[in-house]
Amino acid sequence: MKKVWIKPGCITCGTCEFIAPEIFEVTDICNVKADAPVSESAEKIKQAIKQCPVNVIEALE
Ligand code: SF4
Repeated sequence: MKKVWIKPGCITCGTCEFIAPEIFEVTDICNVKADAPVSESAEKIKQAIKQCPVNVIEALE
């Protein structure tokens, strides 16, 4: 996996941060951390994409 980002519409439910805290940080909105180990955590990111209730997590494989 090369890149992950959040589209507009996050409802800050915290699910992605719970699954992959090294990647996602939820404050007033969900952010991808600057130093996120995207390729190492690809499987967890895929899980977060599936679990996001509003489908706003996007990734470039
Ligand atoms: S799982 Fe989706 S809605 Fe929930 S905090 Fe993450 S990006 Fe936002």
